[in-house]
Amino acid sequence: MTDHENSKTREIFIAGWKGHCPRCRQGRMFCSWLKIQDRCEFCDLDYRFAAPDDGPAFFSLCFVAFPLLFFVVWLQVALELPVPLVFAIAIPLMGIGCLLPLRPIKGWLVASQYLNQAVEAGTEKLWSEMHAREDEAKRDTPDS
Ligand SMILES: [Zn+2]
Repeated sequence: MTDHENSKTREIFIAGWKGHCPRCRQGRMFCSWLKIQDRCEFCDLDYRFAAPDDGPAFFSLCFVAFPLLFFVVWLQVALELPVPLVFAIAIPLMGIGCLLPLRPIKGWLVASQYLNQAVEAGTEKLWSEMHAREDEAKRDTPDS
């Protein structure tokens, strides 16, 4: 990995973890728990590019839910706890364990999309036309 790639990876990690704007690092990325802002309040970054879709849920399931499930099964097998107690431990553990990482994962995906300029394959022309139309509309509408 080159120094440039290392610094980009570090920027993605920090922006996602703190929920900061990946361009100016001052504005907030989220306007609520998991809802992305329309625009950055500092640098006016348009967040319409951000489309993490089911990514946060997928990564939360893969990297948190499955290990937790194995832990719960191990708990049952090793300690032979009563089944209601296992459920009383497992349900809050799985719920909290899967929900807490959603926000940083979503932040990492959005920051990664911005810093890697990722768009869906084959839609580059469509995106550039949409942004050109938007810029044209901005120029035509004088600011108040
Ligand atoms: Zn910003």
